Amino acid sequence: MLNAFEPRVVLQEVPGEVSLAWLVTGCPLACSGCHSQDSWDPAAGTLLTPERLQGWLTRYQGLLTCVLFFGGEWDRDALLPLLRLAREQGLKTCLYSGRDRVSQTLMAELDYLKTGAWVAHLGGLDSRHSNQRLICLHSGGSLNHHFWRRS
Ligand code: SF4
Repeated sequence: MLNAFEPRVVLQEVPGEVSLAWLVTGCPLACSGCHSQDSWDPAAGTLLTPERLQGWLTRYQGLLTCVLFFGGEWDRDALLPLLRLAREQGLKTCLYSGRDRVSQTLMAELDYLKTGAWVAHLGGLDSRHSNQRLICLHSGGSLNHHFWRRS
């Protein structure tokens, strides 16, 4: 069972994609300095069912290219049907995980995967020193350079 806050349409988190982004609650990693501590409580938000996802996909039909989940990998059985539902409708899928790897079963339903916990002194995807990686799972290539600012 996964809960999530209301989704947002985002343009930058997955380069080249218009994503419906869900902040899933209940992340167990408790990174120091996490910007989303209000999402740690698994009871926060509302139950994220395939029906709820479908409602938003219908609302934004024709506008989206991707569905993005910030977390949720800790309940694989709840996340898998959501990923499959998105793909059945021709959408790509992305998971932002704080872990360094996720199961092969989840990866089989993903087009993009962000790995790595938040480590303040290394920074996020916009840092060239980050431990985090956003990977296209088709090419295996890192997409981090899309987040780097010119200096
Ligand atoms: S993985 Fe992300 S959401 Fe989870 S505690 Fe770390 S920074 Fe916060």
